[in-house]
Amino acid sequence: IKNYLEAAKPVIESKILMDTLRDTSLRDAMTGLYNRRFLEEFIDKIMSQAQRVNETYSVLMLDVDFFKMVNDTYGHDIGDKVIVEIGKVVKENIREADLAIRYGGEEFVVMLHNASDEGTLEVANKIHSAFAQLVFDVGSGETIQKTMSIGIAKFPHDGKTIWKCIKYADTALYVAKTTGRNKIVEYTKEMSESETLR
Ligand code: GH3
Ligand code: MG
Ligand code: MG
Repeated sequence: IKNYLEAAKPVIESKILMDTLRDTSLRDAMTGLYNRRFLEEFIDKIMSQAQRVNETYSVLMLDVDFFKMVNDTYGHDIGDKVIVEIGKVVKENIREADLAIRYGGEEFVVMLHNASDEGTLEVANKIHSAFAQLVFDVGSGETIQKTMSIGIAKFPHDGKTIWKCIKYADTALYVAKTTGRNKIVEYTKEMSESETLR
């Protein structure tokens, strides 16, 4: 029995993990992506697992440019449609082992598992341009298109914890926002050192 349990342990553990990952309280209802609660509850586990086996995560922080204008001009329902579409664009461009989280209103965190530097930029570019190409029907025959800005930081290259890397991805996003928006910016140490940027 003991041997059997030892052998079955990884299977049972991964079954429990899979059930947990399907838990609706950890999902954002609008997009079907994970929610912030998921991140808060599981980030430490994900990080220790990654550290144990020397895996990396590239953290992408996405935010729609001038999103408030969509709500203000066309209403909340149109704004919601844009958010749902971001969820789809993200899902279409990531792999099974990657994680996508709706972090805030129109802010998303995407964690790319073991992606190379080129691979990371490629995924960021794909998401960025797929979103820019979407055409939203806002009624009365009118359509709009939107852009997003993306900040990137890499775990463990840029920060010792994934939380730190999320913060750094946000710093890079801030740089993207303040230097014209509609762009992808990779985090550099200088961004944290420079007082004037924050
Ligand atoms: P920036 O380019 O600097 O990002 O400008 P912004 O207008 O996109 O930035 P800001 O973060 O100020 O606006 C985000 C808006 O998102 C504010 C809030 O009303 C809206 N929002 C948050 N959650 C939802 C949601 O679930 N649905 C809709 N329709 N709007 C939401
Ligand atoms: Mg925004
Ligand atoms: Mg925002």
